[in-house]
Parts: sequence; C-alpha cells; structure tokens
Amino acid sequence: MWEDYVRRVTPYVAGEQPNKAGMIKLNTNECPYPPPPGVAKLAAEMDYDALRLYPNANATPLVNALADYYGVDKEQVFVGVGSDDVLSMAFLTFFNADAPILFPDVTYSFYDVWADLYRIPYKTCALDGQWHLCPEDYKQKNGGIIFPNPNAPTGLLEELGTVEEIVAANPGVVVIVDEAYIDFGGTSALPLLAKYENLLVVRTFSKSRAMAGLRIGFCIGSKKLIHYLNNVKFSFNSYTMNLPAQALGVEAVRDDAYFREITGRIVATRERVQEELSQLGFTFPKSSANFIFASHKSVPAKDIFKALREADIYVRYWDKPRIGNFLRITVGTDGQMDALLAFLKSYLEKNA
Ligand code: PMP
Repeated sequence: MWEDYVRRVTPYVAGEQPNKAGMIKLNTNECPYPPPPGVAKLAAEMDYDALRLYPNANATPLVNALADYYGVDKEQVFVGVGSDDVLSMAFLTFFNADAPILFPDVTYSFYDVWADLYRIPYKTCALDGQWHLCPEDYKQKNGGIIFPNPNAPTGLLEELGTVEEIVAANPGVVVIVDEAYIDFGGTSALPLLAKYENLLVVRTFSKSRAMAGLRIGFCIGSKKLIHYLNNVKFSFNSYTMNLPAQALGVEAVRDDAYFREITGRIVATRERVQEELSQLGFTFPKSSANFIFASHKSVPAKDIFKALREADIYVRYWDKPRIGNFLRITVGTDGQMDALLAFLKSYLEKNA
C-alpha cells in the first residue's frame, strides 16, 4: 500500500489567525505597531517588472545589511523565510547524530515536530519549579541542543552565564539559541560567537521588527556553520526569500530609531500590564519577551481563555501537561491591553 510509505507527521499547530473587525489579537506575539515608515514607502515604489526574475538566491543585500548591523562578517549570516525556515534548515543540517538532541520540556512546540519530521532522536529536559533551565541536564551525552532565550511560552530569560555554561560544556555538538524574543530586554548570546564555533544564534523579524507577514528570519554563527547551512539550503530550495522580502527587510534594518522606539514601548506596556495582572490575582514568570505567561490563583485558564475568545479577545492557551493553567498573552498597544484588563476585571468580579 502506498500509504505505508508516506512520511507521516503530526504537524505543528500555529495560533489561529482570525480576521474580525474590532477583535483584539494577542495570540501569536506579533508586533502591535506597523513596520517602519520607510518600508511602506519602498513597498509603494516597488519595481514590479523585477518580479519577472528570480530573486538573489543568497539574499546578499539583506545578509550584508544584517552583517553590518550586528558587526559580524557577511559569511556569518544566513537568512530564511521566517526563523521557522532557518530553524528547520538548522535541524536538518546540524542534528544528524545517533544521540538524542536536547531541549526543554516546556518550550517552542515546533522543535519536536522538526525532530519527528527529520527522524532526529530527541529528549526533553524538565524546567525547574521556577521555569528555569537546569544547565546540568545539558551535560549528558547528546546530538545537539536547542532552546529559546527568552524561553517560549514562559517569557523567562536565562542569564548569559547559563547560556555560556551550556555552550562551553558541549564543544562536540551544535548549540542553537533561538533568540526570537531577545530584543525585548534580554542579553544576547551574540558576543559568545567570538569564543564558540559551534554556537548558532537565531533571530526573527516577526516580533520586534513588526514584519511577521513578510516572513524574514536569520541566524548568525561561525563561518563554518553558515557554510554547512548554505550547502543544505541550496540542496533544498535555492530561492527561498522572495524579492520584496529581501528589499523591505534591508529597509527595516536601516531604521534603528524606530526599532528602538517600538520595542521600548512594548517593554513599558509589558511592565505596567504585569503590575496590573498581579493585582487581579495572576502570577507569572517575570517576562523578558513581548508576552506574559499568566495563571490565575482561582479561575482556570481554560475558562478565562474561552470567555476572552467570546469577547473577540484572542490569547493563546494550550491544554497540555504543566502549562494547562496558563494563558500566553501577547503585549499589544496600551489601548488593547486596557481593554483586556477591563474585561478581566469585570469577568473575575463575577467568576473568581
Ligand atoms: N522561535 C520561537 C521561540 C517562536 O515563538 C517563534 C514564533 N512562533 C518562532 C521561532 C518562529 O517565528 P517566525 O517563523 O515568524 O520567525
């Protein structure tokens, strides 16, 4: 039977993308502010004739812009169609040993999907009671390591010392640090690249750069890692990044003032909302991301999730072990968060 030979996988389930007038969408960690004004201008002036041709297969202008911005060599940068594409290529390239790769038990739920898809053995390491990584767990025999910092969906940041301890203990494998949320207040592992050839730092334009719709991700690592990554990418699909994404991505990197302004605003809103959520009886790990992972002291997360949804306020909820009593709430604009808080206040007055 042909079905015996199908590569069967259980796919990753992304957060829903409803499109209702007046809805408040706080479920997929998008940026509530628009992309930089220069991006809109360039998009309006785009040369559509250029779309006849294939795009630059190496995305050279974007790679160069990112290399300049982060002060690294252009041979140290790889770009892809969102960081999901970059991560998927990195799994395929670097996780190819018999020993299991390691990642936290509570983490980005795409990691085990890629591991299954590529037939990579894996083992999860339990976060401690405060949702922190236990570095000792990452000193066992393994075929590679990946974790986000800050972690998702907890939002909790690990100190650079903890990240370095894990990288330093694993010179024989590739260690990937997924920094999708690092621009919201964390210390990046990028400076460690000078010391560790086996470290890969992955980033995205989807959160702090307000461009989830264009699908731009990238990673920075040693020239050797990037070389191997490119070999796999060019054995998979040469023209991953489309022309508009490349051009608009370059423009986004140019406007650093805007980038700092919107990330600063999101951080300020996050700090205020954390304060107000705790007054409403919520607890959460201290967030260093653009979302808050909150649990209420008396009302089940599932009930709050459903009530919010009926009011067209979308947050993320997973009916899963360990995290089944938490809501992951993306930090939106102050106005969106005020509407959320007002709803929660009145709902909890009636239901707590
Ligand atoms: N890593 C983490 C930890 C994430 O939460 C996400 C967002 N779902 C991604 C990577 C992928 O983001 P994107 O593909 O939009 O860059």
